[in-house]
Amino acid sequence: MSSIAKNLQQVQHQIAVSAERAQRAPSSVQLLAVSKTFGPEAVAQAVAAGQLAFGENYLQEALDKIAAMQALAPGARLQWHFIGPIQSNKTRPIAEHFDWVHSVDRVKIARRLAEQRPAELGPLNICLQVNISGEDSKSGLAPQDLTQAAAEVAQLPKLRLRGLMAIPEPTDDAVRQRAAFAAVHALYASLRAVGLPLDTLSMGMSSDLEAAVAEGATIVRIGSAIFGARNYA
Ligand SMILES: *Cc1c(COP(=O)(O)O)cnc(C)c1O
Repeated sequence: MSSIAKNLQQVQHQIAVSAERAQRAPSSVQLLAVSKTFGPEAVAQAVAAGQLAFGENYLQEALDKIAAMQALAPGARLQWHFIGPIQSNKTRPIAEHFDWVHSVDRVKIARRLAEQRPAELGPLNICLQVNISGEDSKSGLAPQDLTQAAAEVAQLPKLRLRGLMAIPEPTDDAVRQRAAFAAVHALYASLRAVGLPLDTLSMGMSSDLEAAVAEGATIVRIGSAIFGARNYA
C-alpha cells in the first residue's frame, strides 16, 4: 500500500474516532484531501485508494492538475474544491472547472461566479469564508457582515449556498481550538435559524481535526496528514 493510501486510512480512522466521541455518525464528516503543491501522481495515488474530493488553493496549479488527472484517471468522478484566496479577475476559470468554492469572502465574487458558471454545469456549491479570529491578515467576512452577505448570495442563480468555511488562528490549545469552531457553528446555526437551508461547515485541518469534528464540521480539509509536509520552493 502506498504511504498516501496508509495516511488516508489513518485520517479516516481519526475522523471516525472523533465523530464517535462527539456522538456523531462518521459518515456525517466528509474528507477533503488538500493536494496543493503536490503533483498529479500523488493525487492519482489517493484516487486509487478511493479518495475523490480534492481541495486546491492556487488557481493555475489547480487547472494544470485537473487537466492532468483527466489523462491519469480517465472516468474517475473527481470533485474539485477551490479553497484559496480569490482575485476577482480570476473567477471565470473557477466557475468553469470547480464543483465547490469554500473561500467566497465578498458578495462581488459570488456575483461573478454566478454570471460565469456555464449553463450546462450544475450549480456551483458555495461556502462563505468567515474571519472568525478577527485577524487582519486573514481573508473572510466579518461575523457582523455575514447575515446580509448570505442572504444576497442565496438569491444568486447557478450557485447553491451550502454553508460556512473558517480557518481559525492556529493554536495547539485544544480548548481554544474548540472555542473558535464553536463560534463558527453558532454563526452557522444563526443563518439556519433565519431560514437559509445550509448543510455544510467546512472547518478543521491536519492539526485541529478532532476539535472541528467535535464542534460540528461536515467537511474537514486535510493536506499534510495525507500527502506529507509541503515544499513551497
Ligand atoms: C493548506 C490548507 C489546508 C490543509 O492544511 P493542512 O494543515 O496541511 O491539513 C486546509 N485548508 C486550507 C484553506 C488550506 O489552505
